[in-house]
Amino acid sequence: MYRTKTCGELRLANVGETVTLAGWVQRTRKMGGMTFVDMRDRYGITQVVFEAPHCSPAAGELSGNETSPTGGLQGAANALGREYVIQVTGTVSERSNKNKNLPTGDIEIIATELKVLNASVTPPFTIEDQSDGGDDLRMKYRYLDLRRTPVRRNLELRHRMTMEVRRYLDSLGFLEIETPMLIGSTPEGARDFVVPSRMNPGQFYALPQSPQTLKQLLMVSGMDRYFQIVKCFRDEDLRADRQPEFTQIDCEMSFVTQEDILQTFEGMAKHLFRELRGIELEGAFPRMTWADAMKYYGSDKPDTRFGMRFVELKDVFAQAPGFSVFDEAKYIGGICATGQAVYTRKQLDQLTDFVKRPQIGAKGLVYARVQEDGSVKSSVDKFYGPEVLNVLKEKMNAQPGDLILILCGDDAMKTRKQLCELRLEMGARMGLRDKNQFSLLWVIDFPMFEWSEEEGRLMATHHPFTHPKDEDIPLLDTDPAAVRADAYDMVCNGVEVGGGSIRIHDPELQDKMFRILGFTEERAQEQFGFLMNAFKYGAPPHGGLAYGLDRWVSLFAGLDSIRDCIAFPKNNSGRDVMLDAPARLEQKQLDELYLKIDLPQE
Ligand code: ASP
Repeated sequence: MYRTKTCGELRLANVGETVTLAGWVQRTRKMGGMTFVDMRDRYGITQVVFEAPHCSPAAGELSGNETSPTGGLQGAANALGREYVIQVTGTVSERSNKNKNLPTGDIEIIATELKVLNASVTPPFTIEDQSDGGDDLRMKYRYLDLRRTPVRRNLELRHRMTMEVRRYLDSLGFLEIETPMLIGSTPEGARDFVVPSRMNPGQFYALPQSPQTLKQLLMVSGMDRYFQIVKCFRDEDLRADRQPEFTQIDCEMSFVTQEDILQTFEGMAKHLFRELRGIELEGAFPRMTWADAMKYYGSDKPDTRFGMRFVELKDVFAQAPGFSVFDEAKYIGGICATGQAVYTRKQLDQLTDFVKRPQIGAKGLVYARVQEDGSVKSSVDKFYGPEVLNVLKEKMNAQPGDLILILCGDDAMKTRKQLCELRLEMGARMGLRDKNQFSLLWVIDFPMFEWSEEEGRLMATHHPFTHPKDEDIPLLDTDPAAVRADAYDMVCNGVEVGGGSIRIHDPELQDKMFRILGFTEERAQEQFGFLMNAFKYGAPPHGGLAYGLDRWVSLFAGLDSIRDCIAFPKNNSGRDVMLDAPARLEQKQLDELYLKIDLPQE
């Protein structure tokens, strides 16, 4: 037996016991006749003391291939370097100088035996909660980074979350079924990662963007309630905090309405919050239509931890034309920042710069402060008299001390998105985006299609298998852009944590959908023939959703990046810097696959 206890479990109650621990050397401190070694494993840190008086009798116990320098056991301890792997036997003893920051801080081990199990070269950064290693270094040596408590905790949380997901879904009769990784294309709106097939020269598999069509086939099979914690792959252009491979909690159910699905997965969210965060989420999650989410928050994933909903102001300013920017704008919208009239000119200039940044793209920012006497002072005072500004104040429901911020533009949707950025910025500045507060909701009734400038056609907002709302089906022929879908997203704190839809199970309707999406008969057949064919054999009504596991763990752990809850993540350029992947193939491998690399000359 390498160890009888872990480095995290000994307490005062163990005093007097003889124990053996195994782990890594966090650090050593020599103090006169004593050497202290902080010994670490997955469970914690325990202080081990090597005392000179104990050395002589025990020195003979030194084993392994290390040699004992002059000082016997203490000398051997002095020779330990950081991250050496050691085994220590000793007696648990009460510490005189207790460390309140460590769960094991009341005790220490008075060592009687030390065995070096393995040496270590000096690590490239300190293995401590606050590491001195930069991002790149930590990723290159991720196996060392994972020794750090905060990173390890994230993986522990991830594990507990998958266990709780399984427990909850199993209790409801869901079956966990694996679907293949080597498949054909799945249309989720991104590019596929492809894998050449040696046995089928010139042909390629695609890695699943999600098991969407496969889980629908499982419903045709009668599996009824399916889930899978599954890797998905999307070759997307790099966006902040996206991983080319990520994990979904993928679910599908038969004989259900949208309501059944929302309730089942609201139940799962509540279960996870209860079990993993000790938070009881009371009542049903609010539901907001996509149209309202866009109108009041400028986003399909509104952060509802705070208010500051948008108010449309076009009619307010139309009363007194003269300010051409507002007169010509198609949309004018404002938010009211409670108590922020104290904003200085400089701070307002900063905010103006913020909204004018190219990523946001607003032309400017209009502001109005409500003074203590109730009067309004604004940056457009020369165009609007007190009457108009008073109407503004009332419309915004602004009180003395409040700051009104206004954006305008030609394109309502674009301007709302800009206003959304401003709202989030103000929320952050005002401390309203507390990581320990959770606000969940469903966004429902997404539009079925969105217009793609790039493709010059309608694209499925969710995916082509999503069922239109029954009452909107007639619009498919007359005004497809106005069709709403039985599609829903679960949103928490401004993050989309899951989404899904009721699916089409009628082959004719599915056929129609493909046509609206611009598929020719042949292409639809080629890509989705298997599904359309399956639907002819009695497809049950079905629907489902997928949760992003990485997002959930990040949310629960309060992480800024999903990378921190992934054992071996890719960097922002999609590279694994530890494995140095992707990489070139050897010519032999290319030859076997009949592949020629034809890079553009640069
Ligand atoms: N396959 C969908 C996605 O990955 C989720 C779903 O509709 O179930 O977003």
